[in-house]
Amino acid sequence: MRILITGGAGFLGSHLCDRFLAEGHEVIVMDNLLTGKAENIAHLAGHERFKFIKQDVTEYLFVEGPIDAILHFASPASPADYMRYPIQTLKVGALGTHKTLGLARFKGARYLLASTSEVYGDPLVHPQSEDYWGNVNPIGPRGVYDEAKRFAEAMVMAYHRSHGLDTRIARIFNTYGPRMRINDGRVVPNFIAQALRGEPLTVYGDGSQTRSFCYVDDLVEGIYRLLMSEEVEPVNLGNPHEMSILQFAETINRITGNTAGVIFKPLPKDDPKVRQPDISKARRVLGWEPKISLEEGIERTIPYFRQRLGLVVSGEK
Ligand code: UDP
Repeated sequence: MRILITGGAGFLGSHLCDRFLAEGHEVIVMDNLLTGKAENIAHLAGHERFKFIKQDVTEYLFVEGPIDAILHFASPASPADYMRYPIQTLKVGALGTHKTLGLARFKGARYLLASTSEVYGDPLVHPQSEDYWGNVNPIGPRGVYDEAKRFAEAMVMAYHRSHGLDTRIARIFNTYGPRMRINDGRVVPNFIAQALRGEPLTVYGDGSQTRSFCYVDDLVEGIYRLLMSEEVEPVNLGNPHEMSILQFAETINRITGNTAGVIFKPLPKDDPKVRQPDISKARRVLGWEPKISLEEGIERTIPYFRQRLGLVVSGEK
């Protein structure tokens, strides 16, 4: 297949490039590098089945030749990023989704939208299953991302229903691994970087809010299976292993041997109190569930951050 991945220079996008190339497909990346990084795909430069187009996907799109599938992963995705780029976030979720859907229709391509657990907002149903409609504050600081993705889902379903476009929607929960930006403000890079520097971990609020963390390789497997499946309605993809942020901080300190403990900082506005995917649907329709434990995933992620921080000791990769 010839596959277009928007946001392909980002954290998830770049891992998807690796996976699709490894399966023998041809990959075209479109990314304006607003929050993505050329370094994430630098190792693919010169690959005969890989092409990079620096392009803002909210503008008119032109791609030469056939396209079999479009994966729309372009968007600022960490709270710090989308609060810094609120208008770009709204535009890429709304206009970018419209433009890429139009391209998929023109090329007769299958379309997969990277949606998010944020469509559930600060959820009143726990764990979250796909039939829950969510509890989102449209005008709060997170609204720019949440509403853009909710609009994007509506747009995808409209193209499916009106034009018969072959579409998929992945609702992606917290995912982590190598190539996350060290300063993207999310809890995983923040905690790992702080722990490796021997600093206390910054826990927001009292740390009782919960999250459920999925290792990137598991997520990529879920996306791959969803694309190849026939499931048109949204599917949650994430790891159901839930813990409080305070427990997560203690886990990071234990794995890294950091003795500096934690310090408490104010809780950001509208920070969801709980989050855990119900993945029964993914188990049923994709035969998918995460395989990598938190400990193992963190162990696999640490070397990347050590390197980014310049903490690599000689002889280590
Ligand atoms: N968080 C924290 N310390 C940090 C960064 C984040 O306690 O240094 C908390 C944040 O308030 C939230 C959780 O960790 O409750 C996950 O935050 P993240 O930004 O990773 O993504 P979210 O799941 O909120 O989209």
